Amino acid sequence: MRTSYLFDHPTSCRECGKAAAKHTDTYRMVANEPYSGNMVVVKKKTYVSFGKDCMTLTLWDGETYILKYGYFCSLNCTSAYANRMVRTFES
Ligand SMILES: [Zn+2]
Repeated sequence: MRTSYLFDHPTSCRECGKAAAKHTDTYRMVANEPYSGNMVVVKKKTYVSFGKDCMTLTLWDGETYILKYGYFCSLNCTSAYANRMVRTFES
């Protein structure tokens, strides 16, 4: 099971140092209007569906970051770190 961790500050993978991604939500809505909420628009895509202007907004709260596997970006990084710990503590 994947265990994602959220952080309220920029962080990075403890193994490889890759920066954590912004934790965003994507919203689809009809009408291509300027976004007036208090979230940060990370990405905006407009398109026409059934003759109506539509848009997909990717919004970020401006402070939350996510690492998909706890303190790590991938399972490879997780096991590399864990194995190094075992080597460190059992040798
Ligand atoms: Zn990593």
